[in-house]
Amino acid sequence: MRNFVITIVAFFTLLSLNAQTHSHAGAQPLTYPNIEGYVSLKTDLHMHSVFSDGKVWPTIRVEEALRENLDAISLTEHLEYQPHKEDIPHTDRNRAYHLAMEEAKEHELLIVPGSEITRSAPVGHNNAVFITDANELLHDDAKDAFTAAKKQQAFVFWNHPAWYAQSPAGTPILSDFQKERIKKSELHGIEVINTVDYSEESLALALENNLTIMGTSDIHGLIDWSYTQKGNHRPITLVFAKEKSIEGLKEALFAGRTVAVYNDLLVGKASYLKPLLKASIEIVSAAYIGKTQVLEIELKNISSSDLLFENAMSFTFYDSSPVFEIPAGESKIIKIKTLNRLGSLDLKLEALGAFTAPKEHPMIEWKINVE
Ligand SMILES: [Zn+2]
Ligand SMILES: [Zn+2]
Repeated sequence: MRNFVITIVAFFTLLSLNAQTHSHAGAQPLTYPNIEGYVSLKTDLHMHSVFSDGKVWPTIRVEEALRENLDAISLTEHLEYQPHKEDIPHTDRNRAYHLAMEEAKEHELLIVPGSEITRSAPVGHNNAVFITDANELLHDDAKDAFTAAKKQQAFVFWNHPAWYAQSPAGTPILSDFQKERIKKSELHGIEVINTVDYSEESLALALENNLTIMGTSDIHGLIDWSYTQKGNHRPITLVFAKEKSIEGLKEALFAGRTVAVYNDLLVGKASYLKPLLKASIEIVSAAYIGKTQVLEIELKNISSSDLLFENAMSFTFYDSSPVFEIPAGESKIIKIKTLNRLGSLDLKLEALGAFTAPKEHPMIEWKINVE
């Protein structure tokens, strides 16, 4: 009997040990390094509450953002689509923003006032953020809504342009409506990542039209159910701001200093994506093994994205595949055959999970001093 009890205890001890080692990356708070001259703000500027077609009260959005360590969010309720208004009547379209502000006042989280201008194609869905009054954006003609947003000096971005419900081929169509908005400086950004969808064509449109690259969750239900429990983080936009403030965030978005991130996928202009990736890898050590010409380097990924690299040097690796991953928060040792013993090395890796243009990966270089 005693042996049996010991066996049972050992069994449950093992079980609980297992439970501890089993963790989801998505359950960790998000962290990304700053880049030179800027703070990296983790933002999600597209989400819904019961004040449009979302399923939760605005305060839940604030709590979710705090759990994931975000710096800024915006509750972008559909202005025109209000399925809960019979049960939750409200005359003020700024109500969700005010409730979120109240909830966030003890915290560092920035709440950006926003609204979603909602139409069928070709206008599609568009978010206006940094608005001063959502009620003023309610117009029958979408053009008037955009004019009103501009009057409030809002930053406006085109949501999920590749959404197959509005574009059956799953590719975005830049219509005369958008062209006119861009020309009039009424449209400033575009989502390349929305929920779990990534569109290379939207990235191409961003680069061709100088639109700010955005990634958002567009969450309607719970972040936990849609992302965290599946081992994912929500998509975010990393914004490189001169300071963490509403004004700092707004300036950076208009200037296009962003990288859209969804787990191991990073999309942005080379000028921001390259320094971000460079800063995401810390060189822990670099030394030759004994008297050999094999240089051992320990790399640590301090970001929340698993990073996939390919060796881009002429030197080959001693043991691992030239393609390797460094999981978020973890270290990896690579052994490089440098043929001669070097005092320093330019480590050059291609970031395969990152895109600076459709089908284009950035090349990242680190100057490494050998110990
Ligand atoms: Zn919606
Ligand atoms: Zn939406």
